[in-house]
Amino acid sequence: MPPHNLTDAPQAAAPRFDVVAGATEPRVMAAPIFESRDLSVSYGDKLAVRDVALTMGRNEITALIGPSGCGKSTFLRCLNRMNDLIPAARVDGAVIYHGQDLYDDDVDPVQVRKRIGMVFQKPNPFPKSIYDNVAFGPKVIGLKGDMDEIVERALRRASLWEEVKDRLKTNAFGMSGGQQQRLCIARALATQPDVLLMDEPCSALDPISTARIEDLMEELKTDYSIVIVTHNMQQAARVSDRTAFFTVQLAEEGHRVGHVVEFDETEKIFSNPADQRTEDYVTGKFG
Ligand code: ADP
Repeated sequence: MPPHNLTDAPQAAAPRFDVVAGATEPRVMAAPIFESRDLSVSYGDKLAVRDVALTMGRNEITALIGPSGCGKSTFLRCLNRMNDLIPAARVDGAVIYHGQDLYDDDVDPVQVRKRIGMVFQKPNPFPKSIYDNVAFGPKVIGLKGDMDEIVERALRRASLWEEVKDRLKTNAFGMSGGQQQRLCIARALATQPDVLLMDEPCSALDPISTARIEDLMEELKTDYSIVIVTHNMQQAARVSDRTAFFTVQLAEEGHRVGHVVEFDETEKIFSNPADQRTEDYVTGKFG
Protein backbone atom coordinates (compact mmCIF):
# COMPACT_ATOMS: atom_id res chain seq x y z
CA MET A 1 0.00 0.00 0.00
CA PRO A 2 1.60 3.35 -0.93
CA PRO A 3 2.05 5.59 2.11
CA HIS A 4 0.01 8.44 0.58
CA ASN A 5 -3.11 6.32 0.22
CA LEU A 6 -5.40 7.95 2.75
CA THR A 7 -9.02 7.49 3.58
CA ASP A 8 -10.17 11.07 3.31
CA ALA A 9 -10.84 13.66 0.62
CA PRO A 10 -7.91 15.34 -1.13
CA GLN A 11 -6.46 18.61 0.09
CA ALA A 12 -8.56 21.72 -0.34
CA ALA A 13 -8.23 23.85 -3.45
CA ALA A 14 -5.16 25.99 -4.03
CA PRO A 15 -5.01 29.25 -2.06
CA ARG A 16 -6.52 32.35 -3.59
CA PHE A 17 -4.67 35.58 -3.09
CA ASP A 18 -6.87 37.96 -4.98
CA VAL A 19 -10.27 38.26 -3.37
CA VAL A 20 -11.32 38.09 0.26
CA ALA A 21 -14.99 37.85 1.07
CA GLY A 22 -15.98 40.44 3.61
CA ALA A 23 -12.58 42.11 3.72
CA THR A 24 -12.35 45.82 3.09
CA GLU A 25 -9.22 45.60 0.93
CA PRO A 26 -8.09 42.53 -0.94
CA ARG A 27 -4.55 41.76 0.11
CA VAL A 28 -2.40 40.89 -2.87
CA MET A 29 0.74 38.93 -2.22
CA ALA A 30 3.59 41.08 -3.50
CA ALA A 31 5.93 38.16 -4.08
CA PRO A 32 6.33 34.71 -2.63
CA ILE A 33 9.22 33.91 -0.32
CA PHE A 34 8.52 30.18 -0.18
CA GLU A 35 6.50 27.83 -2.26
CA SER A 36 6.21 24.26 -1.04
CA ARG A 37 5.22 21.71 -3.64
CA ASP A 38 3.81 18.30 -2.75
CA LEU A 39 5.84 18.35 0.40
CA SER A 40 5.59 15.22 2.52
CA VAL A 41 7.66 14.19 5.51
CA SER A 42 8.04 10.73 7.01
CA TYR A 43 9.80 9.64 10.17
CA GLY A 44 11.06 6.14 9.49
CA ASP A 45 8.21 4.38 7.68
CA LYS A 46 5.52 6.64 9.16
CA LEU A 47 4.19 9.46 7.02
CA ALA A 48 3.79 12.49 9.33
CA VAL A 49 2.50 15.19 6.99
CA ARG A 50 1.58 14.93 3.33
CA ASP A 51 1.24 16.93 0.13
CA VAL A 52 1.67 20.40 1.57
CA ALA A 53 1.42 23.02 -1.18
CA LEU A 54 1.61 26.52 0.27
CA THR A 55 2.82 29.81 -1.14
CA MET A 56 4.08 32.11 1.60
CA GLY A 57 4.43 35.83 1.01
CA ARG A 58 7.51 37.99 1.27
CA ASN A 59 7.25 40.58 4.05
CA GLU A 60 4.20 38.82 5.35
CA ILE A 61 3.52 36.76 8.45
CA THR A 62 2.17 33.31 7.66
CA ALA A 63 0.64 31.40 10.57
CA LEU A 64 0.41 27.61 10.74
CA ILE A 65 -2.38 26.47 13.04
CA GLY A 66 -4.09 23.19 13.84
CA PRO A 67 -4.35 20.49 16.48
CA SER A 68 -1.28 18.96 18.07
CA GLY A 69 0.51 16.37 15.94
CA CYS A 70 -0.75 17.59 12.57
CA GLY A 71 2.74 18.33 11.32
CA LYS A 72 3.05 22.10 11.73
CA SER A 73 6.51 21.98 13.29
CA THR A 74 7.59 19.26 10.90
CA PHE A 75 6.56 21.43 7.96
CA LEU A 76 8.21 24.53 9.46
CA ARG A 77 11.48 22.63 9.85
CA CYS A 78 11.40 21.83 6.12
CA LEU A 79 11.66 25.53 5.37
CA ASN A 80 15.27 25.72 6.59
CA ARG A 81 16.21 22.06 6.29
CA MET A 82 16.21 21.52 10.03
CA ASN A 83 14.69 18.09 9.46
CA ASP A 84 18.06 17.09 7.99
CA LEU A 85 19.27 16.98 11.58
CA ILE A 86 16.71 14.27 12.45
CA PRO A 87 18.17 11.02 11.08
CA ALA A 88 14.80 9.29 10.67
CA ALA A 89 13.21 12.15 8.76
CA ARG A 90 12.68 11.90 5.00
CA VAL A 91 11.43 14.86 3.00
CA ASP A 92 9.79 14.46 -0.42
CA GLY A 93 8.70 17.30 -2.66
CA ALA A 94 10.18 20.74 -3.08
CA VAL A 95 10.54 24.04 -1.24
CA ILE A 96 11.19 26.87 -3.66
CA TYR A 97 13.02 29.80 -2.08
CA HIS A 98 14.34 32.64 -4.26
CA GLY A 99 13.65 30.49 -7.28
CA GLN A 100 15.64 27.49 -6.09
CA ASP A 101 14.57 24.22 -4.51
CA LEU A 102 16.12 24.12 -1.04
CA TYR A 103 16.34 20.36 -1.46
CA ASP A 104 18.47 20.47 -4.62
CA ASP A 105 21.65 18.44 -4.29
CA ASP A 106 23.90 21.47 -4.62
CA VAL A 107 22.25 23.46 -1.83
CA ASP A 108 24.30 23.73 1.37
CA PRO A 109 21.99 23.40 4.41
CA VAL A 110 24.32 25.55 6.51
CA GLN A 111 23.90 28.42 4.05
CA VAL A 112 20.16 27.82 4.10
CA ARG A 113 20.01 28.18 7.89
CA LYS A 114 22.07 31.36 7.70
CA ARG A 115 19.46 32.97 5.44
CA ILE A 116 16.46 31.42 7.18
CA GLY A 117 16.71 31.84 10.94
CA MET A 118 14.70 29.95 13.51
CA VAL A 119 13.34 30.72 16.96
CA PHE A 120 12.04 27.93 19.16
CA GLN A 121 9.32 27.43 21.72
CA LYS A 122 11.54 27.74 24.78
CA PRO A 123 14.10 30.54 24.81
CA ASN A 124 17.41 28.70 24.46
CA PRO A 125 20.26 31.17 24.91
CA PHE A 126 23.76 29.74 25.14
CA PRO A 127 25.38 29.85 28.61
CA LYS A 128 27.38 32.86 27.51
CA SER A 129 27.20 36.62 27.73
CA ILE A 130 24.46 38.54 25.95
CA TYR A 131 27.08 39.86 23.54
CA ASP A 132 28.54 36.43 22.79
CA ASN A 133 25.11 34.96 22.15
CA VAL A 134 24.50 37.47 19.38
CA ALA A 135 28.08 37.40 18.04
CA PHE A 136 28.16 33.59 17.86
CA GLY A 137 26.40 33.13 14.51
CA PRO A 138 28.19 35.94 12.68
CA LYS A 139 31.55 34.55 13.91
CA VAL A 140 30.72 31.01 12.80
CA ILE A 141 29.79 32.10 9.29
CA GLY A 142 32.63 34.63 9.09
CA LEU A 143 30.36 37.63 8.62
CA LYS A 144 32.42 40.68 7.69
CA GLY A 145 32.10 43.98 9.53
CA ASP A 146 32.56 45.47 12.98
CA MET A 147 31.26 42.90 15.47
CA ASP A 148 30.15 45.54 17.99
CA GLU A 149 28.00 47.11 15.29
CA ILE A 150 26.61 43.77 14.17
CA VAL A 151 25.64 42.93 17.76
CA GLU A 152 24.10 46.34 18.42
CA ARG A 153 22.11 46.28 15.18
CA ALA A 154 20.68 42.84 15.93
CA LEU A 155 19.79 43.80 19.51
CA ARG A 156 18.14 47.01 18.34
CA ARG A 157 16.19 45.11 15.70
CA ALA A 158 14.98 42.70 18.37
CA SER A 159 13.85 45.63 20.51
CA LEU A 160 16.29 44.69 23.29
CA TRP A 161 19.18 47.12 23.00
CA GLU A 162 17.95 49.73 25.49
CA GLU A 163 17.38 47.07 28.13
CA VAL A 164 20.77 45.39 27.83
CA LYS A 165 23.26 47.91 26.43
CA ASP A 166 24.86 48.40 29.86
CA ARG A 167 25.22 44.70 30.63
CA LEU A 168 26.29 43.10 27.38
CA LYS A 169 28.99 41.09 29.10
CA THR A 170 26.68 39.55 31.70
CA ASN A 171 25.33 36.03 31.34
CA ALA A 172 22.19 35.69 29.24
CA PHE A 173 20.66 33.43 31.87
CA GLY A 174 20.20 36.50 34.08
CA MET A 175 17.55 37.87 31.73
CA SER A 176 13.79 37.37 32.03
CA GLY A 177 12.13 34.76 29.84
CA GLY A 178 10.74 37.39 27.48
CA GLN A 179 14.14 39.07 27.19
CA GLN A 180 15.78 35.70 26.55
CA GLN A 181 13.34 35.07 23.70
CA ARG A 182 14.08 38.49 22.19
CA LEU A 183 17.77 37.64 22.57
CA CYS A 184 17.14 34.46 20.58
CA ILE A 185 15.44 36.59 17.93
CA ALA A 186 18.47 38.93 17.93
CA ARG A 187 20.73 35.90 17.62
CA ALA A 188 18.75 34.69 14.62
CA LEU A 189 18.80 38.17 13.03
CA ALA A 190 22.54 38.61 13.55
CA THR A 191 23.45 36.40 10.59
CA GLN A 192 21.36 38.73 8.41
CA PRO A 193 18.67 36.31 7.26
CA ASP A 194 15.63 37.33 5.26
CA VAL A 195 13.26 34.87 6.89
CA LEU A 196 12.43 34.09 10.50
CA LEU A 197 10.75 30.78 11.33
CA MET A 198 9.11 30.81 14.75
CA ASP A 199 7.92 27.63 16.42
CA GLU A 200 5.44 28.64 19.14
CA PRO A 201 7.77 31.45 20.22
CA CYS A 202 5.46 32.76 22.94
CA SER A 203 4.12 29.60 24.50
CA ALA A 204 6.54 29.80 27.43
CA LEU A 205 5.99 33.53 27.97
CA ASP A 206 3.66 35.67 30.07
CA PRO A 207 1.07 37.90 28.32
CA ILE A 208 3.17 41.07 28.51
CA SER A 209 6.24 39.40 27.02
CA THR A 210 3.98 37.81 24.41
CA ALA A 211 2.58 41.21 23.43
CA ARG A 212 6.12 42.56 23.04
CA ILE A 213 7.09 39.71 20.74
CA GLU A 214 3.90 40.22 18.71
CA ASP A 215 4.66 43.94 18.35
CA LEU A 216 8.18 43.04 17.35
CA MET A 217 6.94 40.65 14.68
CA GLU A 218 4.82 43.41 13.22
CA GLU A 219 7.90 45.67 13.05
CA LEU A 220 10.11 42.94 11.64
CA LYS A 221 7.91 42.10 8.73
CA THR A 222 8.92 45.29 6.93
CA ASP A 223 12.34 43.70 6.46
CA TYR A 224 11.74 40.00 6.93
CA SER A 225 9.28 37.29 6.04
CA ILE A 226 7.97 35.34 9.01
CA VAL A 227 6.38 31.92 9.29
CA ILE A 228 5.01 31.11 12.74
CA VAL A 229 3.58 27.96 14.27
CA THR A 230 1.18 28.86 17.03
CA HIS A 231 -1.39 26.96 19.05
CA ASN A 232 -2.80 30.32 20.11
CA MET A 233 -5.54 31.20 17.64
CA GLN A 234 -5.92 34.75 18.92
CA GLN A 235 -2.24 35.21 18.23
CA ALA A 236 -2.58 33.91 14.66
CA ALA A 237 -5.56 36.21 14.15
CA ARG A 238 -3.71 39.21 15.61
CA VAL A 239 -0.36 38.94 13.91
CA SER A 240 -0.61 37.02 10.67
CA ASP A 241 -1.53 37.99 7.11
CA ARG A 242 -2.31 34.47 5.97
CA THR A 243 -3.10 31.33 7.84
CA ALA A 244 -2.81 27.67 6.94
CA PHE A 245 -5.05 25.33 8.89
CA PHE A 246 -3.61 21.82 9.25
CA THR A 247 -5.42 18.81 10.60
CA VAL A 248 -4.77 15.09 11.04
CA GLN A 249 -6.62 12.15 9.62
CA LEU A 250 -6.27 8.43 9.99
CA ALA A 251 -4.25 6.77 7.24
CA GLU A 252 -5.14 3.25 6.14
CA GLU A 253 -1.99 2.09 7.89
CA GLY A 254 -3.68 3.16 11.12
CA HIS A 255 -1.58 6.14 12.16
CA ARG A 256 -2.39 9.81 11.98
CA VAL A 257 -1.13 11.94 9.10
CA GLY A 258 -1.26 15.73 8.91
CA HIS A 259 -2.29 17.78 5.92
CA VAL A 260 -3.48 21.28 5.05
CA VAL A 261 -7.25 21.76 4.98
CA GLU A 262 -7.35 25.41 4.05
CA PHE A 263 -4.98 28.29 3.40
CA ASP A 264 -6.18 31.83 2.95
CA GLU A 265 -6.07 35.34 4.26
CA THR A 266 -6.15 35.25 8.03
CA GLU A 267 -9.25 37.39 8.14
CA LYS A 268 -11.08 34.95 5.91
CA ILE A 269 -9.92 31.89 7.82
CA PHE A 270 -11.24 33.35 11.06
CA SER A 271 -14.41 35.01 9.80
CA ASN A 272 -15.58 33.05 6.80
CA PRO A 273 -13.62 29.84 6.25
CA ALA A 274 -14.44 27.70 3.23
CA ASP A 275 -14.16 24.36 5.00
CA GLN A 276 -16.35 23.17 7.87
CA ARG A 277 -13.33 21.60 9.59
CA THR A 278 -11.61 24.99 9.68
CA GLU A 279 -14.72 26.59 11.11
CA ASP A 280 -15.04 23.93 13.78
CA TYR A 281 -11.43 24.45 14.77
CA VAL A 282 -11.38 28.25 14.84
CA THR A 283 -14.65 28.38 16.76
CA GLY A 284 -13.25 25.95 19.32
CA LYS A 285 -15.51 23.00 18.53
CA PHE A 286 -12.52 20.68 18.34
CA GLY A 287 -8.78 20.66 18.78
P1 ADP B 1 2.66 19.66 15.44
O1 ADP B 1 3.75 20.64 15.33
O2 ADP B 1 1.48 19.99 14.58
O3 ADP B 1 2.24 19.37 16.86
P2 ADP B 1 4.69 17.73 14.71
O4 ADP B 1 5.26 18.21 13.45
O5 ADP B 1 5.44 17.99 15.98
O6 ADP B 1 3.19 18.26 14.85
O7 ADP B 1 4.44 16.17 14.62
C1 ADP B 1 3.77 15.56 13.53
C2 ADP B 1 3.93 14.06 13.66
O8 ADP B 1 5.28 13.68 13.47
C3 ADP B 1 3.51 13.52 15.02
O9 ADP B 1 2.90 12.26 14.84
C4 ADP B 1 4.82 13.37 15.74
O10 ADP B 1 4.77 12.33 16.70
C5 ADP B 1 5.77 13.00 14.61
N1 ADP B 1 7.13 13.47 14.89
C6 ADP B 1 7.51 14.76 15.07
N2 ADP B 1 8.85 14.82 15.29
C7 ADP B 1 9.32 13.56 15.24
C8 ADP B 1 10.60 12.96 15.39
N3 ADP B 1 11.70 13.70 15.64
N4 ADP B 1 10.70 11.61 15.28
C9 ADP B 1 9.61 10.85 15.03
N5 ADP B 1 8.36 11.35 14.87
C10 ADP B 1 8.20 12.68 14.98
